[in-house]
Amino acid sequence: MNNPSQRLSAHFTLAEMTHSATAARKGIANVLTPEIERQLFLTADRMEGVRALLGDKPISVLSGYRSEAVNKAVGGSKTSAHRTGHAVDFICPSFGTPAQVAAHLAKHLTSYDQIIEEFGQWVHVGFGPQKRMQKLTAKKVGGRTVYSQGIG
Ligand SMILES: [Zn+2]
Repeated sequence: MNNPSQRLSAHFTLAEMTHSATAARKGIANVLTPEIERQLFLTADRMEGVRALLGDKPISVLSGYRSEAVNKAVGGSKTSAHRTGHAVDFICPSFGTPAQVAAHLAKHLTSYDQIIEEFGQWVHVGFGPQKRMQKLTAKKVGGRTVYSQGIG
């Protein structure tokens, strides 16, 4: 249980799906429950599909699961899909920019809740149960996050 080197799927480990640079810096534990761990296996499996769609190029996970304390520390939304282990923020530089990655996934990925190009810096993909198939772009406007329809 909670062995960080544990493999969730061929290319994703528990360590990367629970890592938080902010939490590490602030000494906050990203507490995992067995239920969340089970969900992370499913999310990692969906991320294998994302990786395949991006030509099997390496993906860097910036943020996966966030405990309540970690989510608070990074300023995440209370209803964030990261809280339940359903969402991943990532980059895939050898495929392209976050906007290019998000646009490609918006065209080809099936059965997801949200694809968000966030601040031109990374892609958020959510696999929550609502399956809204939302395609959004997030920008900071006057310090607030504003979402617009579509990618880019
Ligand atoms: Zn996210």
